[in-house]
Amino acid sequence: MSLTNRGSSPAYRILAIETSCDETAAAVVADGRHILSNRVASQIGLHRRFGGVYPEVASRQHVLAIQTVVEGALADASVAHVRELDAIAVTHGPGLAGSLLVGVNLAKGLAFASGLPLIPVNHLEGHIYSNWLHPDISPDSVRRQRGGGASEQFPALILIVSGGHTELVLMEGHCRYRLLGATLDDAAGEAFDKVARLLDLGYPGGPAIQAAAEGGDAGRFHLPRPLTRPGRRTERQPAAEASPLPNVLPVRGEHRFNFSFSGLKTAVLNLMRELEREGTEARQPQNAADIAAAFQMAVVDVLVGKTADAAAEFGVEQVCICGGVSANGLLRRSAEQHFAQIGLPLHCPPLFLCTDNAAMIGAAAYYRQSYALARQPSATGREQRQDAEASARSSPHDRTSEPPARDFLALDVYASLPLVDAKQR
Ligand code: ADP
Ligand code: MG
Repeated sequence: MSLTNRGSSPAYRILAIETSCDETAAAVVADGRHILSNRVASQIGLHRRFGGVYPEVASRQHVLAIQTVVEGALADASVAHVRELDAIAVTHGPGLAGSLLVGVNLAKGLAFASGLPLIPVNHLEGHIYSNWLHPDISPDSVRRQRGGGASEQFPALILIVSGGHTELVLMEGHCRYRLLGATLDDAAGEAFDKVARLLDLGYPGGPAIQAAAEGGDAGRFHLPRPLTRPGRRTERQPAAEASPLPNVLPVRGEHRFNFSFSGLKTAVLNLMRELEREGTEARQPQNAADIAAAFQMAVVDVLVGKTADAAAEFGVEQVCICGGVSANGLLRRSAEQHFAQIGLPLHCPPLFLCTDNAAMIGAAAYYRQSYALARQPSATGREQRQDAEASARSSPHDRTSEPPARDFLALDVYASLPLVDAKQR
């Protein structure tokens, strides 16, 4: 089902708002794939001195920034008034509760004032749908970035790797998911951030580790590949000799598709202590670069090894990687190389859609509205609102012509909302 199957009707345009962590973001997305505008106000500079996101500071900054960001997104998309649009979407979890509240309350207010439907979106589903967006907005530098283009071929395997999550998800169709595995402790991005802090490389840690690793020797130190074992990958996958990756296989049993990065961080700490004991300064630039390169290689080995194993096990039609860590160059290259060898389509979002943004929330909202909620797919939000207004005008005293219930006003924030319910697993 598609909301665009309305003959020559105009595109279904959604204003999306994202404030789950430390990015205040708003976007206008047409038909779930086309980005008409995409504004992101990052708070990185504010949180740098704390070495991580300070929740109270984050929510207060969202309050300060959100009006400008939303007005900017509407102006960039040449939308004079919210009422011209079809729906409003907002992230309602998972995330920091105080941050989520800012976006959710603004979205409720806009939906209440405009009469448009409000679509709550799971942040992780947003990351997934970043792969369905076409990066076709100006400027040219962005347009040139490859990305998007995930197809309608299911099942698809999704690796979500962000600051808060590391999950392998089997996507059986639009908005239908099975959780295959997740991190037992730290998320991959969290590990990048913590190791960068250990090495004094700066914040956020992912880009800092990647930059340092460029001048490093990944082979000088060996770090563990948690929840994996040495050996050949499955027979349906290429021999390890042909791959740039070491011969990593997931462990057997219940943790086959789970991850664990906290021990890897401790291994880095132990390595640094050992070097210091030997009188070698671990944070000296070349040593830090070599440690960063070894750490990055270990994380990428685990991520690609487990994704490759799950792709073969479930016979998927395509693989998508998303979330902030999907911006990592080594991860993208290693995954591209592996899946090209076995002829399986791989999608990664363009770099500007890897970390938190609202365009991905608009995309997810469109598919949710089309496939999961399926509310009046033949009518745009504008048409629904006009119908309601017309019937209210024609018989103001008739109880049946009252405006639709404002059920969205009860929308809560779910700080730890899972993508897949425990009972569905
Ligand atoms: P969340 O949704 O959990 O708030 P994001 O999706 O915005 O997080 O991703 C942020 C995370 O991505 C941070 O942990 C950051 O270090 C990591 N990250 C960003 N760029 C890179 C990169 N080039 N390499 C590795 N990690 C990265
Ligand atoms: Mg995110």
